[in-house]
Amino acid sequence: MGKILAFLKKDLWKIIIILSLTFIQAMANLFLPSFMSDIVNLGIPNGDTGYILEIGGFMLAIAFGGIICQIIARFMSSKVSAGFSMDLRNNVFTKVESFSLTEFDKFSTASLITRCTNDITQIQHFLDMTLRMAITAPMMAIGGIIMAIRHGQSLSLILIVSCTAIIAVMAVNFSITVPKFKMIQTNVDKLNLITRENLSGIRVIRAFNAQATQDKKFDKANQDLTHLHLIIGRIMAALQPLTMLIMNITTVIVLWLGSRLVQSYTIQVGDLMAFIQYVMQIMFSFQMLSMTFMIIPRAMVSVKRINEILDTDPAIKDNKEEDLKTPDNTGKVEFRNVTFYYPNAIEPALKNISFVSKPGQVTAIIGSTGSGKSTLVNLIPRLYDVSDGEVLVDDINIKDFSQHELRNRIGYVPQKNMLFAGDIESNIVFDREVIESEITESAEISQAMEFINEKEQGFQHPIAQAGSNVSGGQKQRLAIARALINSPKIYIFDDSFSSLDFKTESKLRNALEPKVKNSTVIIVTQRVSTIMDADQIIVLDSGNIVGIGTHHYLIKNSSVYYEIASSQLTKEELS
Ligand code: ADP
Ligand code: MG
Repeated sequence: MGKILAFLKKDLWKIIIILSLTFIQAMANLFLPSFMSDIVNLGIPNGDTGYILEIGGFMLAIAFGGIICQIIARFMSSKVSAGFSMDLRNNVFTKVESFSLTEFDKFSTASLITRCTNDITQIQHFLDMTLRMAITAPMMAIGGIIMAIRHGQSLSLILIVSCTAIIAVMAVNFSITVPKFKMIQTNVDKLNLITRENLSGIRVIRAFNAQATQDKKFDKANQDLTHLHLIIGRIMAALQPLTMLIMNITTVIVLWLGSRLVQSYTIQVGDLMAFIQYVMQIMFSFQMLSMTFMIIPRAMVSVKRINEILDTDPAIKDNKEEDLKTPDNTGKVEFRNVTFYYPNAIEPALKNISFVSKPGQVTAIIGSTGSGKSTLVNLIPRLYDVSDGEVLVDDINIKDFSQHELRNRIGYVPQKNMLFAGDIESNIVFDREVIESEITESAEISQAMEFINEKEQGFQHPIAQAGSNVSGGQKQRLAIARALINSPKIYIFDDSFSSLDFKTESKLRNALEPKVKNSTVIIVTQRVSTIMDADQIIVLDSGNIVGIGTHHYLIKNSSVYYEIASSQLTKEELS
């Protein structure tokens, strides 16, 4: 809570003004019926027009002042709460961006989106309500009771009975709706997840005719959420008229009893009228309070969910500035006894991995799917931290680099490559400082020029969200071009040639060779032909290195490698 409240600090004086204004407004409301009773009790029986006009004018001024205060307070509270939610959103988003993949695995993407949007809106709504009612509602409830008793002591029993009745109604309301309100946020999460999955996976869903099942999933989540809203709605629908009924019955009883008391001169007409107005005010403020109380639980759930984000320390953080090192950029990569577990996994994804990859060398990693190849290369740009052992770049533990510096040294083409909405150029440059010739050179080498030239707008050809308007192979080539910018010393290609035909692949590799000849190149692949002349080949099997050496060495000495190779190569190539 403290962290979230800190965002309100800079608006403290505004909050004080809002609370003061609402205080004045409540005071105005509290005194108006009292003045009215004076007019009825003193002014009218004496026919004192001057007195009536004087008090009446005074009441008008108070009422007007109260309204002005209310308008300004509303205006300011909307502004404060909207500004607060903007700050909070900014902070939460920045925090989420600082998360490592470990945290992304922990919170689901859908939940992160709900938290950045819907949850913050809940808190904003709550803040707005609280600012406007925190002073007014209790003041009018308590002040109203005091004033009512002052004007009609003999009628206070009715007040006690009807207040008790209203509180009982509120209690019933609470006990049913509060747990439901709490459940709503998790249901919004679920709905978000299904919506996202369905929209981004629409091609697969169509291709497999899975609309019906997906619809059903969506329907279920949608219905669950609707059901919750309905329950809350029904309870409110039933209880609000009940509150009104209690208020009206109270008025009738007060009038009935009151008129007798007026007849017996126990109470004056003006006091009776004031009493009724106070009773209305009290009930009204009870309703306001109950509304605020009702959104508290939902807002608290949201606060908790936001705090979970703000309180999460990213697993991967830079060391203190003075402890950071920036060794010469040679490109050497070394794994020393690296073991890695995914969060919550029982089995390690990598076990005791050691190897050295030197500049000017090509290191290939081969192994069946799920053997841990992508996991291994993900550790080099520190997308995850090792569980045990060390990864060294340029002879320094990568934890001693700043993440920025480390990643600057690496040209990484992930297996699941990603294009962003924009154009071809923005996807290659990707916010770095580059010269024009470098862009063309990268596109040239990655064989992307071929299809860029075919586009009317060339490098300015628009790319749709997630690159859905280019083919898999074109996407791969652009991702490779992106990695070549700034000529890093370390290149990681995670299955990056898989969508290319053999001809394009060989052209690409020929063009790539001079560019990367002084760099460390790590290639993950399934194709033996791609890596036959690699300087060293690492054979992975269930997270273990089961062979390391050249193609010829491994053919003779690694049964796993021989098996993979023999399934892809001819007899002559095998020998
Ligand atoms: P490869 O690239 O060799 O096909 P991966 O490195 O992607 O294999 O995966 C190795 C193992 O780690 C697999 O068993 C996979 O299920 C598991 N794995 C991959 N990513 C995650 C993740 N984010 N969370 C948990 N387990 C994962
Ligand atoms: Mg992989």
